[in-house]
Amino acid sequence: MFKANENYLKLPGSYLFSTIAKKVSEYQARYPEQAKEIIRLGIGDVTQPLAPSIIASLHAAVDEMADAGTFRGYAPDLGYDFLRNTIAEKDYKARGANIAPDEIFVSDGAKSDSANIQEIFGPDCKIAVCDPVYPVYVDSNVMAGRTGNYDAKTELWSDVVYMPCLAENGFAPELPDKPADIIYLCFPNNPTGATLTKAQLQSWVDYANKNGAVIIYDAAYEAYISEADVPHTIYECEGARTCAIEIRSFSKNAGFTGTRLGFTVVPKDLKDADGVAMNGLWARRHGTKFNGAPYIIQRAGEAVYSEAGQAETKEQIAYYMKNARTIYEGLKSAGYTVSGGVNAPYIWLKTPDNMSSWEFFDYLLEQAHVVGTPGSGFGPSGEGYFRLTAFGSYENTLTAIERIKAL
Ligand SMILES: *Cc1c(COP(=O)(O)O)cnc(C)c1O
Repeated sequence: MFKANENYLKLPGSYLFSTIAKKVSEYQARYPEQAKEIIRLGIGDVTQPLAPSIIASLHAAVDEMADAGTFRGYAPDLGYDFLRNTIAEKDYKARGANIAPDEIFVSDGAKSDSANIQEIFGPDCKIAVCDPVYPVYVDSNVMAGRTGNYDAKTELWSDVVYMPCLAENGFAPELPDKPADIIYLCFPNNPTGATLTKAQLQSWVDYANKNGAVIIYDAAYEAYISEADVPHTIYECEGARTCAIEIRSFSKNAGFTGTRLGFTVVPKDLKDADGVAMNGLWARRHGTKFNGAPYIIQRAGEAVYSEAGQAETKEQIAYYMKNARTIYEGLKSAGYTVSGGVNAPYIWLKTPDNMSSWEFFDYLLEQAHVVGTPGSGFGPSGEGYFRLTAFGSYENTLTAIERIKAL
């Protein structure tokens, strides 16, 4: 008789956002008259439609598919050159970072890349994560059998190195206090909205090079950076080519959450203890397990970098960041302790009256009909915190904040 993968059986509970969705639909079923009132500032999904220049490029690419002369079948599994060249130019060269097109691997998004990247590392590598953290990093390593045993009381895995991000350290992690081989960093951060300065990130790069660790740098929110001192890519740091992999997404910077496009950078200088180049391993993995992001979508991705695409997507980001300010300032004036919202579409707030994160979730859902995300869902150091996102409409955001202020 077949057996299930035991690693999967170790995963506690269900995926955070499935739990939230279930709670909200139960509430709606119980109070159907309140159902229409609900405002969702929970999940990190965009709401603005795709920008006109992206829609135009999608249409043009679809039309190419109707003509035998321009029809495309399988995409190259590492990505089309037109997109890889554009990314190398606009995301890296323009920022003084030296990344070649063949170090860029186009994919269907950052969730799958950030979950899959661990496959090219040895099973005994120790991972280090921020706490709170985007759940995908830990869960994918649980599935790979790399995390040891789960302690339901502390909600920690025995073989994971945790780097608490608390108010005391400005939600910026301290260098790990135990040896770690694979260090996951995400800045601007989901869920806290915190950032690292270039000097701070440089200290991580130096640490990784000195200790033979690799940094998996999730830069999905790069486009939301507004402060000059915050690096847009880890390759702005000296020495990052020998210790860092960067993961990017078109989801939050250009509204591709449903359209699906992302990429991962694996520099050729990134080598393991025996001199094995990780670039080749990721290429091999793509070749075997991925058949390329769709041509139509890669053309749409290219359009994001056009002059019109840049202007239009900047406007969308400004729209979300206006929401972020509305949430931040509204909560602050209501007496909440808040952070984030400056370089990221996330506001991280301390729950009032020592409520637990889930108590505050229920309280907000029932009293204000606003859905947010309990901080404890991102890790034990998130307990007592709550995340609101700026991805709603401006009108809904205003209404939600008015309701919270009136509580
Ligand atoms: C939204 C998000 C992603 C997922 O991006 P996709 O490209 O849509 O898969 C990855 N990392 C973080 C931190 C995110 O918040």
